Amino acid sequence: MQITQAQEWVKDAWSRSEKRMSKLAELASFMEECGELGEAIRKIEHGKDKEVDLEKEMGDILLCLLTLAIRYDIDLQNAFDRTIEATKQKYLVK
Ligand SMILES: [Mg+2]
Repeated sequence: MQITQAQEWVKDAWSRSEKRMSKLAELASFMEECGELGEAIRKIEHGKDKEVDLEKEMGDILLCLLTLAIRYDIDLQNAFDRTIEATKQKYLVK
């Protein structure tokens, strides 16, 4: 699934959901998920990798980011493309 497709899927899913959160609550969820990822990585680095599901934690963050992007009318595909182009210019040898 491409970023654009993922964003459309999330937008449609939330439009059919009864769950309503404010933008600040969505930001809080995003930050909470980032904390969970940090904790998961910390556990892995301390040899407790059986206790974590890193893939799930990254998926959680992606869902929250897609949700925030929708709320602020950001095209994440475009945002990512811009970032990739800037990264190429800044870090990659031509
Ligand atoms: Mg999580």
